[in-house]
Amino acid sequence: MPKLLEILLNPNPILRKKSLPVAVDDILKPDFQSFLADLKETMIKKDGAGLAAPQVGKNIRVVVIQNDNQIFFLINPVITKKSWAREIEEEGCLSVLSKKGEIIYAPVERHKKINCIYLNEKGEKKKISAEKLLARIIQHETDHLDGVLFIDKIAKIKPKKK
Ligand SMILES: [Zn+2]
Repeated sequence: MPKLLEILLNPNPILRKKSLPVAVDDILKPDFQSFLADLKETMIKKDGAGLAAPQVGKNIRVVVIQNDNQIFFLINPVITKKSWAREIEEEGCLSVLSKKGEIIYAPVERHKKINCIYLNEKGEKKKISAEKLLARIIQHETDHLDGVLFIDKIAKIKPKKK
């Protein structure tokens, strides 16, 4: 049974460290697979759009994302292409809470479209082209692997009302 992991809250030095790549040979090991299951379980229970390993205290390059009823892992993700076009939308993060313990939302400018290469949970090389919300989630989560939080990037302009 997967277990719920504790989510670290800002400020915490682990959230600010650059995380290390996962060795491909480790991906299929039972310990790593159970970590993936725990990370996924924690994201689902906390209702996050994504969760990065440093947020649960592990400085390794792993994130889990849920979008459009699909859940997938990105291991050692690298954003290989970024659109010139950008857009500003509000973001929140399970690691960034107000003093009352509520999620803080703030506008962040992100590339509208990206390409990303990564390894999946079986250690297979994958490539994804994403836009809009999914592109935003991937950029937010991969930032975590470099010790960057969305509050470092708050846009000065408000997002456009739709
Ligand atoms: Zn986050």
